[in-house]
This record gives sequence, structure tokens and C-alpha cells, in this order.
Amino acid sequence: MQKIDGLRYRALGPQHLDRIARDVGLDGDQLTALKAVAAVLPFRVNRYVLDELIDWNDIPSDPIYQLTFPQAGMLERGDFLRMVDLLGRGASDEEVRREARRIRMRMNPHPAGQLDLNVPEIDGERLPGAQHKYRETVLFFPSQGQTCHAYCTYCFRWAQFVGMEELRFANREVQTLVRYLTTHTEVSDVLFTGGDPLVMSTSVLRRYLEALLVPGLEHVTNIRIGTKALAYWPFRFTTDRDADDLLRLFEQVGRAGKRLALMAHFSHPRELGTPEVREAMQRILDTGAVIRCQAPLVRHVNDNAEAWATMWRTQVRLGAVPYYMFVERDTGPKHYFEVPLARALRIFSRAYNQVSGLARTVRGPSMSATPGKVVVEGVAEVAGEKVFALKFLQGRDPSWANRIFFARFDAQASWLDDLEPAFGAKEFFFEPTLHAMAEGAWLPEWRRKDAPRLVGASREEAS
Ligand SMILES: *Cc1c(COP(=O)(O)O)cnc(C)c1O
Repeated sequence: MQKIDGLRYRALGPQHLDRIARDVGLDGDQLTALKAVAAVLPFRVNRYVLDELIDWNDIPSDPIYQLTFPQAGMLERGDFLRMVDLLGRGASDEEVRREARRIRMRMNPHPAGQLDLNVPEIDGERLPGAQHKYRETVLFFPSQGQTCHAYCTYCFRWAQFVGMEELRFANREVQTLVRYLTTHTEVSDVLFTGGDPLVMSTSVLRRYLEALLVPGLEHVTNIRIGTKALAYWPFRFTTDRDADDLLRLFEQVGRAGKRLALMAHFSHPRELGTPEVREAMQRILDTGAVIRCQAPLVRHVNDNAEAWATMWRTQVRLGAVPYYMFVERDTGPKHYFEVPLARALRIFSRAYNQVSGLARTVRGPSMSATPGKVVVEGVAEVAGEKVFALKFLQGRDPSWANRIFFARFDAQASWLDDLEPAFGAKEFFFEPTLHAMAEGAWLPEWRRKDAPRLVGASREEAS
């Protein structure tokens, strides 16, 4: 195994599959399968993931291999065989691309709320690279942070990595964001997400972050950065050329009176085990930033209580804060990764049962669905009916947060849409408001101030 300390980042993609297969000893069938799926779904790794994270003696079931390498089961069988056939008889690039596009379009490339409804607007100008769904938090997708150091096979943003250009968010206009935030004093958090904003050079990231440190934005007290860099490329914080500069930028945010929160995506305890990631975490914490950890629960990667309990314990020991366990969204190879809600709850509870209160800052299993973030709190029997107790952690209407509601128990359900209200109710309490919102007849208060033009806009989006 080559020593990779101080290695320069280099993305390895589908064009490197032959070499990777040779290096790690994959057989011809495995390589064929990888190529067929990688023609449809995004694939990217790097030397750190290959050499430090994946256990090549445990292929294909190794969780990090499942997390980063496309698997035959991620496509419908017929699609997979057709793609293998096309590649096998040397079909033209155009033919392969056309088939890939057709398959992708049937994989729900933009799940609820990714493109529509939440786009903020200022002075008649839309901020297409932003989303303001929950009152306190604006999401911002910097146009230069639209990729990652490696791709997770379960990523719900997969469509933007395969060049479905029209689905990409982009916004160079940080100044437009600043103008929006200036008039929206209800916003306390700005969350930079992507892709991974930390694929940007520090000098570019600095332009975005410094813009938020100006007078007039005192109400923005938390700057969050969503990232998988700690897991996939910890050198971003240690030996990369501008790593020290990045840490100085984090300190600068702290000196300006704001808290920088690194929203770290950790899917498996192994990602927390290398000397490189531990050094990176220590350096980040030394800047005064906080690390909060979250990931989806996915079959083949982390669908067991031990993985989560170990992750949460390790995070706490390393000074990080367990934050969310998500339910995998209904997009891409959902069928491959799907874990029913009832099973997700059992895994969460078994992991939660065995850690101390310091790790119980974590919440889950949580669905980021159209009406809001909904956590499965438990299964109970109420008035003779077996039900899921559900709770809003975030809602389109802020008053929904912390509100409990009930759905009929369903052992197969894997998403909010699969659930029916309990006790014979015709609809969930939030549905009338949600319908009114889709029709443009109801807006949350922070959008009302930009009305009435927005009322028309959201009617268009809903159609
Ligand atoms: C999760 C999420 C947030 C942040 O919610 P917190 O509960 O404060 O972490 C903001 N916007 C969207 C669209 C989200 O999905």
C-alpha cells in the first residue's frame, strides 16, 4: 500500500475503472458490472478512499465499497442487462448516453423540494442557488462547490453529478444572497451545501464566507458548511496547500462573533478511524468551530445498530456532536438502499439504547420530506390501533415543529408518502396547508413579505 500522506487530490472516475480493477484485483465480471452502472450513475473515488477506507478482502460487501462503487443491483435488472449489452458490443457513446439518460429519468432525479417552491427572491430577482424552506435557515449552493471528493452511491444529489445540467443549482451572486439576508432578519443560519463546498479552494470559499461577516448581518449567527471532506479527503484540513488558510478562515468566522459549524457527513465508523481524519478533526476543533455529524441510514452500508452506536461514541470522544440520522430519500437507486421505517426505528433505538446521554444529541430516523423534517419517534398502540408516532423537527409552517402526529403502522412503509393517517382520519393535519401552499394560497410569513408577486410564482412552480 503506498504511503499517501501529503498526497495531492486527484479524482478517479469511470475512465480509471480499468486501472483500479487491475490494482485491486477485481475480476472481469465485476469490472463489466461497474462500467455498466457507472455509465448511468455518478462514480468518483480517490486514493485515500481506495487505500485507507475500503477493505479489499471483503468485496463486494465491504460497506465503504458499497458506499462508493456502483453496484449491479442499483439499476433495475433489465436496465442493467441492456447497459452491459450496449457496452459489450461496443455501442457508440451517443447510444450509451441516450440509454443512460432514459434510465436516469425514471429514477426520480429531483426529489421533493430540490428545485421548486423554496427559491427565495429579492427585488424581483430569484436566487436560484438558494433555498429558504425553514424560517431560521437559508441553504446556499455555491456554484463552485457542486462536486465532491468522492461520490456516495446513495446521494440524493446524484443527478447534478451526471451532468443533468438543467437540474443544477448555480449562483455566483453571493451579493444577492447578502441583500436577501439583510432584509430577512429571521434567518440565523446560513448553510453552505452542494456538492461539497470544501472542494472549492480556500480563496474562493473566503469570498463567500467573508461576505457574511459584514455589518447588517448580525442576526446570522451560525455559518454551517455541509461536507464529506473529513470522511473522503481529510487532507483538506491538514496537508493540502491551502489547508492552513482554510483553518484561518474558520478562526476568522469565530472572531467575527459567529459560530462555524462543520456539518460532517459520516456514514460508517471506519471513516472516523484513520490517523488522518483524527488529526483533521482536532485541527478544526482548535479553530473554535464545532463539528456536527449526520448521515442517512442505508442498506449495505450502515443498516445495523453497532455501526451507529460506534459512530456516535467515537464522534463524542473526538469532540464532535451526533446530529441527525436520516432516512434515505426516494430518489436514484432507492430500492437498493431502502430500509423500511419500522426497521430504521429499531436500528436507531438499539444504537441509542447503548450510548450515554452525550451521544443522544442525535435525532432520527428523520425524513426530509415535502412538509418538513419528520422523525419517527416510536411505534405504539393507541386505542387498540398500532401506530407510528411521528414528530416534526422542521416544518414549512414553523408552528409544526415539535408537533406529534400519528400514522397507521405499516411494516413496509419506507417514506412519509407511504403512510396513512391513523384512527381513520382522511388526511394528516398538515395536508390542507400544504395543498394551499402548492396552489399559492398560503405562504409562510417570511415569503409573505415578498408577496404578492411570489403568490403567482409559487402557483407556477406547483404546476
Ligand atoms: C435540514 C434542513 C435545514 C436545517 O435544519 P436544522 O434542523 O436546523 O438542521 C434547512 N433547510 C432544509 C431544506 C433542510 O432540509
